[in-house]
Amino acid sequence: MKTPEEVGLKISFEYLKGNDTLLQMVKQIADRHGIRGFLTKKEDKVEIIVSAPLEKLQGFSKELGELLPYSLFMSDASVETVEPISPFITEDFKIKTDLNLLPQNLSVCPSCLKELFDREGRRYHFPFISCNYCGSQYAYLHRYPFTRENTQFRFFNTCNDCKTEVENKNSFRHGYPLTACHNCFTHFYLKNKNAEKYGFDGEKTALLFGEGAGLLKEGKILKIYTQNGTKLIGLINEKNLSALRENLFEKRKPITVMFTGFDVLDRYLVLSELEKKVLASQEKPILYLKPSENFKERNAVSPFGFIKAKLPDTPPLLILSAYLKEKGVDFVFIGDFQENAVELIEFHIEADLPVVNLQEETTCIVIDSHIIIESGEKGILPSIVKSKKTGNLSIAGEYAALDLGDGEYLIDKKEKILNQLEDFVDSINSLSVLNGLEEEVKTPYKEKKKFYDFQGAVLSVLGEHNILEQPAAGIYLSKYSDHNIIGVKSHTRPFTPVIEVKPLRLYPDLKQTVHWIIKQIESHSEEGKRLIANFSRKYPDLYGRIGNSLLTENYKLSSNITAVFNAVSFLLETFPYEDADYFEEPFLFLSKEAVNFQGKKGVRIDYLLVEEGGRFLLDWRKLIQSVLSYKLAGAEKDMVAFSVLEGFGDWIINQTLTICSKLKIENVALAGDLLTEPITAGKLINALGKEKNLYLNRKLPVDRQNVAFGGIFV
Ligand SMILES: [Zn+2]
Ligand SMILES: [Zn+2]
Repeated sequence: MKTPEEVGLKISFEYLKGNDTLLQMVKQIADRHGIRGFLTKKEDKVEIIVSAPLEKLQGFSKELGELLPYSLFMSDASVETVEPISPFITEDFKIKTDLNLLPQNLSVCPSCLKELFDREGRRYHFPFISCNYCGSQYAYLHRYPFTRENTQFRFFNTCNDCKTEVENKNSFRHGYPLTACHNCFTHFYLKNKNAEKYGFDGEKTALLFGEGAGLLKEGKILKIYTQNGTKLIGLINEKNLSALRENLFEKRKPITVMFTGFDVLDRYLVLSELEKKVLASQEKPILYLKPSENFKERNAVSPFGFIKAKLPDTPPLLILSAYLKEKGVDFVFIGDFQENAVELIEFHIEADLPVVNLQEETTCIVIDSHIIIESGEKGILPSIVKSKKTGNLSIAGEYAALDLGDGEYLIDKKEKILNQLEDFVDSINSLSVLNGLEEEVKTPYKEKKKFYDFQGAVLSVLGEHNILEQPAAGIYLSKYSDHNIIGVKSHTRPFTPVIEVKPLRLYPDLKQTVHWIIKQIESHSEEGKRLIANFSRKYPDLYGRIGNSLLTENYKLSSNITAVFNAVSFLLETFPYEDADYFEEPFLFLSKEAVNFQGKKGVRIDYLLVEEGGRFLLDWRKLIQSVLSYKLAGAEKDMVAFSVLEGFGDWIINQTLTICSKLKIENVALAGDLLTEPITAGKLINALGKEKNLYLNRKLPVDRQNVAFGGIFV
């Protein structure tokens, strides 16, 4: 019966996650408090309407606030009072939407975190702690459905205490497949030259991690098992980093810094509230951030203006970090263990439980108020995105997307979807494969389509936002793609390029590519010839080094703007090395130089179109000619670098707006991992966001993983 003092409350927030487990948690907390109400989810907006006497409602709100993990896919909640719900409508708490519950790899929830550090509890320092709402669930999954039998946990029987918990309706482990504790599961152990120590219980695990933190503080490098793969961790000092870099495949890439606690972030980083939230979210991504003056180790981990920062995610890293913090260590480096680094290891913390699904770390950047997921799998995949119904399957490189029915798309690693395809669907309408490669698909399909990365990436944005039926312009700028383009999709025509980057030759060696570019400029015009002659006279050394590289037949043709910027960086001498350690390294040095520019306005760089065989192409010859002219005139490097990237942003904006006004298009989709370049991306987001309806991926990374999803709609 409705009591007079009953009040109603509406809590609403945006929820863009392709996994609804957290919504299930809301119901469990409501049930714990005997709250009546319901939860709805419409077009990514969650509404929770509850009704109860004030005191009960306060208890519910308090517990929800304390226990619901924050996700980077979740907006701040707004709360308002509403009319109480009539008891005729509902007697308990109902979820009025179909929930997609997928096992994922997430950090521990607040409730498990408390348990992990509760000395009196059964799971004090239990490194495999997790519950229905958190933890590394996907790491141990062999196949769907998510039952214990289908995971690596099947070899261990639950003890009586764990069994009781699984049967308890109020427990967060009610029915949870991976319920375990010190008494009924495998243990961590520490190994070094002298001894082996086993973490049979909480106290012993505490000793083990305490000792590990001590060895780390002495300067030793640790190899540690985590649910997200084996990691290398150590103090950031010259000895450790030079030893580490020596053994890495890409020796000069920025190294990730793990801060041992949330409270030390402000001391070492310059970060916004949103950036703090992203770092602390349950997905625990790596975030590009600006270090503050206090972070003296900045140059050791990254030569650029940013560092890659993260907080501890998995339980072993959380426990280790607690002891490091106790010993006054605020941060360490962390990286994936590579076999050739085995010489470095002086001790390890291990567990004998194979990780079935090893996931790539997720990397994000915040630009304005946009969270851009650059790349990654952890906390993102498997994902379900709801969009237009097609019945299709799409495969792009390592990833696939499948319509499970009704336009609910499962997106994950290709093998994870193909291995169980017959369990998911009986037939497939059309199969789209990136670049038309051969793929073995056992389930019958009606037709096969070939598509390109730019189509997949742009269509994924339209698909995520459910505007596939509307005309749109799309911009795809990707560091690794051979198709950087501006294109258009109309009511009648599929997404087609309008402007492309003039194809250039990509050689294995940067100097070869620059050499070829110089030759193109020379042979294109008299003006170009004169310019290169002047350049060779004024910079004989630089010109000589370029000219010495041999142009072989080993190259590919690519419409890749990053390659052009790499050449600019080499010619401007913002790149301090002879060869690139990884493809986009010279470009990152150009971007760093540009970000350092203190002036307000740059100079004009020529971004011009050329028509070739009916295609409109960005003529990078003119762009490089501008750069060389300014260099010859003695212009400051930082100013030219800034002008190149700013000019590129302005040019894209102008071209896109021209196309939009000619074709009466209001929607613009932006995709590709070049969106992590702050100057270009900042300009694009700002200007296009003001003039048009601007859309970006919000559920999936802006490259690679999104391409598989967009392939569905080709
Ligand atoms: Zn939990
Ligand atoms: Zn147990």
